[in-house]
Amino acid sequence: MTVVAIDGPVGSGKSTVARMAAQRLGYLYLDTGAMYRAVGLLATEAGVRLDDEAAVVPIAAHAELRFDGDGRLFAGDRDVSGLIRSLEMGAAASVVSVLPGVRRLLVERQRTLGAGADIVMEGRDIGTNVFPGAEVKVFLTARPEVRAARRADELCAKGEEVDVDEVLDALLERDRRDSEREVAPLRKAADAVEVDTSKLSLDEVVAAVVAIVRDKVAS
Ligand code: C5P
Repeated sequence: MTVVAIDGPVGSGKSTVARMAAQRLGYLYLDTGAMYRAVGLLATEAGVRLDDEAAVVPIAAHAELRFDGDGRLFAGDRDVSGLIRSLEMGAAASVVSVLPGVRRLLVERQRTLGAGADIVMEGRDIGTNVFPGAEVKVFLTARPEVRAARRADELCAKGEEVDVDEVLDALLERDRRDSEREVAPLRKAADAVEVDTSKLSLDEVVAAVVAIVRDKVAS
């Protein structure tokens, strides 16, 4: 069984690349950011402060998060896949993900979902913390301006009105929070292969990741 850990900052292309690489390899795919976003959404809806660990942890514990076969995320019976994709829920996710109790719960769930499977798992701390023994680790990066432009395109495509400078500011703020937090900060694992996607097309990045996986699995 092979775990492929794909980590990197906002807009590095992780989600799309991880999903496409999983499809091409015939592996399962797990988007761990979606789980933090869902907890951010539920906490926002409950009207609690997002940095209030005592309030947010029970919400995460009772969230009943599950993915269906098409990569849609449910909280109980409710499909939250669309609601979690806003700029606001990205920011909410990065606040609740700082809370150690929230991370403990979600990491445990991620380890259960990944156990015994051929899986591509994507996030911030997969290669460093969730599966430090993952057979394949990839760290995707890109220049901040490139990442902001990609995020702005994605949000526009969903009908959200965005200003690229605002997206860049939000992204730099999220990078800072994700990299500076005490528990499982965003960083490249020592044994991860870094791929700078700034000048690569989506197909080129997917091909590079698939090649890295095939290479490791063969050796
Ligand atoms: O990848 P995505 O943008 O959906 O992640 C949303 C936020 O969730 C990130 O900015 C980060 O704060 C948090 N996250 C995390 N650990 C992960 C995945 C996401 O802390 N494994």
